[in-house]
Amino acid sequence: MGSSAKVEVPPDTPEARRYNRIKRWLGIVDLGLGAALLVLLLATGWTRDLRDFAYRAAFQNYVLAVAFYIIALLLIAKLLGLGLDYYGFRLEHRFQLSNQKLRAWIKDQFKEFLVSALLAGLGAELMYFVIRQSPAHWWLLAWGMFLGLFVLLAQLAPILLFPIFYKFEPLENEDLKSRLVKLGERAGTRVRGVYRWKLSEKSKKANAALTGLGHTRRIILADTLLDNYTPDEIESVLAHELGHHVHGHIFKSIIVQGVITLVGFWAADRVLRYSIDRLHMFDSLSDFANLPLLMLIATILSFLLMPALNAYSRYNERQADRYAFKSTAGVGPFITAMNKLADQNLAERSPSKFVEWFFHSHPSISRRLEAAHAWGRMKF
Ligand SMILES: [Zn+2]
Repeated sequence: MGSSAKVEVPPDTPEARRYNRIKRWLGIVDLGLGAALLVLLLATGWTRDLRDFAYRAAFQNYVLAVAFYIIALLLIAKLLGLGLDYYGFRLEHRFQLSNQKLRAWIKDQFKEFLVSALLAGLGAELMYFVIRQSPAHWWLLAWGMFLGLFVLLAQLAPILLFPIFYKFEPLENEDLKSRLVKLGERAGTRVRGVYRWKLSEKSKKANAALTGLGHTRRIILADTLLDNYTPDEIESVLAHELGHHVHGHIFKSIIVQGVITLVGFWAADRVLRYSIDRLHMFDSLSDFANLPLLMLIATILSFLLMPALNAYSRYNERQADRYAFKSTAGVGPFITAMNKLADQNLAERSPSKFVEWFFHSHPSISRRLEAAHAWGRMKF
């Protein structure tokens, strides 16, 4: 075959196309529903009624009232989105991608709600505390605190958050462990650990990730991957994750998030002041009835930035792929692993250009396969 030969990528099945199209729409509708709720609360003034209700329930205690308001808001949002969530649960079963029983799913919904209420409550309390202490510079101080919280959470997530939803255990496979040590030695780095991620309790899909910071930095590999892929294929996945580590992708992502949230907090300050001074929607900055407005700004900003953030993520993924090509014996296992992953996860190998540009955090499988083939040709 000539060097310009087009790589044969199996076409996507109608099933894979349908599944991914429904999932995308589910995400869009979910986001739209959330935004619509926020707009409704603001436009009708119901956010002020909710605030008054929270105050009364909290016996006029500000800190407690913020907590009640947050819980009420999250509860309303959860109930409103419950139908969609359940549809998402059914969808995974319809396409034979899930192992999760309804009872376990309901339990997860409760856990998710509690975790998000706890984190959102903590975030809101801190923010309104800063607003009251320093109304002039609150956005800068709040940004600094959020960044600190974000770093702390990135560090604690593997040992505190993930185990709430999944079981993890240190990888026992000696062959794989020694392969990782060798990969790490060649990279001049050491990952603290590799963990077996019991994804099979919930899903038939396979996955792998690099998580944590500092002492909690680790690679997690789904049991659905470990049990069904050859050692060479698993090594190529490990090498990809190690590539994220070597290139410092978690740290760089925190920097990017930091810049974006700084702009976000600044914009929030501007919009809040306008809504108070000109529109007379709220009494003051510390009037927490303005929370839906802040959330709306965050929603709009993250939607607008999605293509840019995804482009940045795809850039990192390409870098991690190249690292995997470079550090393993050949690209063969990477190629077979990618094809297996696509089949197992019912992924679209060749999504439309627009879909990939807007929605995908990873390059399409077909592009990743082409890059692997190109690398393989270059080497020989
Ligand atoms: Zn990756």
